Amino acid sequence: MINSNSITFKVSTLLVVISAIFILLTTLVSRHLFISGYESMEHEKLNYIMHSISPSLALNLSYGFNEAVTELGNELIAHKHIVHVQILPHQSDAIHFGISIQDTKEHFTQEMTLHDPATKKSIATFKVFYSKKYFHQLMQEFYILISISIFLYIIALTILILFLLKSLKPLGLLANMMNHFNPKNPKTFHLPFNTKDEISSIGMSANSMVASARNYLSTMQELNKKLYQNEAHLKEAQRMAHVGSWEYNISNNTLELSAEMYRILALKSNTVLTWDEFLDYISSSDKLHVNNTLIYAIEHGSTFELKYSIVLKNSNLVYIHTRGKVRKKEAGHSRMAAISMDVTAEHTDKKTIEQLAFYDPLTKLPNRTLLNDRLSEAISNAKRHKKKIALLFLDLDHFKNINDTLGHDTGDSLLIHISKLLKNEVRESDTLSRIGGDEFVILLTDIKSHDDALVVTQKLIRSLHGQHKIDQHLMYITTSIGVAMYPDHGENYYELIKHADTAMYAAKEDGRNTAMLFTKQMSQDISKRRVLENDIQLMEGDYEQFELYYQPKIDAKSNKLLHVEALIRWRHPTKGLIFPDEFIHILEESGLILKVGEWIIESCFKQIVSWRQNNMELQVAINLSAAQFQDYNLIKLTTSLLEKYSINPLLIEFEITENISINNVQESLRIMQAIKSLGICITLDDFGTGYSSLSYLKQFPIDVIKIDKSFVMNMHDNHDDFTIVKTIINMAQSLNFKTVAEGVETTQHAKLLKELHCDMLQGYFYAKPLPVPEFNNYYNNFLNQNE
Ligand code: C2E
Ligand code: CA
Ligand code: CA
Repeated sequence: MINSNSITFKVSTLLVVISAIFILLTTLVSRHLFISGYESMEHEKLNYIMHSISPSLALNLSYGFNEAVTELGNELIAHKHIVHVQILPHQSDAIHFGISIQDTKEHFTQEMTLHDPATKKSIATFKVFYSKKYFHQLMQEFYILISISIFLYIIALTILILFLLKSLKPLGLLANMMNHFNPKNPKTFHLPFNTKDEISSIGMSANSMVASARNYLSTMQELNKKLYQNEAHLKEAQRMAHVGSWEYNISNNTLELSAEMYRILALKSNTVLTWDEFLDYISSSDKLHVNNTLIYAIEHGSTFELKYSIVLKNSNLVYIHTRGKVRKKEAGHSRMAAISMDVTAEHTDKKTIEQLAFYDPLTKLPNRTLLNDRLSEAISNAKRHKKKIALLFLDLDHFKNINDTLGHDTGDSLLIHISKLLKNEVRESDTLSRIGGDEFVILLTDIKSHDDALVVTQKLIRSLHGQHKIDQHLMYITTSIGVAMYPDHGENYYELIKHADTAMYAAKEDGRNTAMLFTKQMSQDISKRRVLENDIQLMEGDYEQFELYYQPKIDAKSNKLLHVEALIRWRHPTKGLIFPDEFIHILEESGLILKVGEWIIESCFKQIVSWRQNNMELQVAINLSAAQFQDYNLIKLTTSLLEKYSINPLLIEFEITENISINNVQESLRIMQAIKSLGICITLDDFGTGYSSLSYLKQFPIDVIKIDKSFVMNMHDNHDDFTIVKTIINMAQSLNFKTVAEGVETTQHAKLLKELHCDMLQGYFYAKPLPVPEFNNYYNNFLNQNE
């Protein structure tokens, strides 16, 4: 099919038309030129012939030489092209030569007037007919030539068109190939020609274009692959980091969520979520805050950061951290884009860490750190509003005993129990904290006066006071409270805690089960203690400042003085005599009690040797602190000293408090048996203040029970105390323990105790603890009086 729009068709048509016009014109013009050229040439020739003959013809005619005329006429006719000659004399008949003429059109004619040579008058008309026969022949030849030319020309034209067709055909093929070009799979065109012409170069250009396209395509594919990978990585990263992203088109109210965002919301990824539905996830407590923040960001085209929780369809709570930005564009085309992180794990960790950092793991009460925070906050509030704060330092009395006797688990249970009791007594706005062991600190804000604080302390003391049943154990609890006030007693946490602690110590010293408000004096007492502590440290093993006093124990029945108790004193170079209650606990707390204890034991041994030399035989009771009793070195030391001073072990007695013995039953039993195996007596000191029962003590190799002086001294006024003393003596007897009563201050004490069959009596009624020389005097006087 020939395409009428193809270049080939157009060029061919044009060529044919132009050629046709050209041929037509050329033919016409050349024919015209040929004919006119031929005619003028023949005329010229005839003209010449006629002119050359005309003078002779005119002469002969004028003279009437007819023969000569005829001769001339025949001469003319003899000419190849002249077919007819006419001589038409004006005065005579016409003379004709040659064949007669029918069709003049078939001949050229030439006329001439003949003049008389003498008169110059016209005498005849001379006419020659000239045959067109040759002309036609020539014309025929001309037409043949023209036809041949046209024919050749048409052939050439056809060749040209064919050539054109052939040349342009690849172009069509190329176009066809390009029509079927697949941009997704650009293949090189297989050019069906191998010419080096323009089309070939178009083909090659097309192929290099295909190559570029292929390159571009592979680059694009590579990029696409990378993009896809990046997207996948991003998705993966978002998934791993629990980071989702979302974009809210504010103008058309549409929301787009990333895959991870769907996961966070526990939704299928094809769920369509509206903005309102998206906001509905936010838990009600955070809704207002989130809403306000977003509204602000939308209005100002600003960034925003939010922490809130969302509630999933399955009611799970998820903590979210969102960071985003609002892009404000003209014509209201605003978008809000954000990333949202699932920080639930972090939040839970934070909660746990917070719990650990700020709360006591046992009682779940705020710890020291949180108390510090709350107090600092309360102080700055109180400062602004000119208000007072009270800090209550609360310490259970003898808690250590409970821990030691009933074990730490029971101790812990008691602390939890106590913390609940205390919680009931304080307001929601107050802070009840546990800062260690059995130490609780209560922060009371908005307090008007010291009395207000003391009212609270009384309430607390009352609520704790009494018997509590913990893990099957009945225990009697009291507590001591120290109170420090802001701003009166301190400006900051450290001052207030320190002073409340000091006041608490003072309350303990005042007999426990009471509360005390901090005073400057207390502080001085505390600093005095610090000084003592320092002084002891400075002794560095040289205990010359210590001195042992001896207090007699009188046998109730025989009224004999065979026993003494060694009681330590500190003769301080500047402060004078200091009693053990002021420094024993310092020694115990610092661990120095072991060294000082060894010094005490050896001093007693030396004293026994010294008395022996004076013919005095006295059993010496040595007080042992818990650390000494448990010291593995005690038995070794005692053994070696007994040997060193060759002392009868029966002259040695160790006094230990009942709580020491019950701490670790097996261990205590082992130590006591070791002591007993040396032949040394064991006395249970301060009996009645601890938690052990007599029957429980049966298993221990104890010799003597010493009834605590607090019961003895009040026996007369307090019937309970009397009953206690009486019961202890009776039970001790039934268990085969001897009894000693300490704190015997009056005759009545002595009398009553004797009536109750107490074995030995010790107290100011007989003698105070005395330094050796005075004791010796006392001893001698006692002997003399009782002889
Ligand atoms: P403790 O072992 O219960 O000693 C008895 C305390 O009662 C002594 O106080 C004594 O002076 C006092 N006392 C004696 N009779 C009476 C009296 O009739 N009325 C009154 N109110 N008190 C009386 P001291 O000497 O001040 O000792 C206090 C505590 O210090 C001792 O109590 C003992 O626990 C400890 N202690 C004393 N010396 C030593 C020692 O050498 N080693 C150890 N580890 N502790 C010692
Ligand atoms: Ca004692
Ligand atoms: Ca005692």
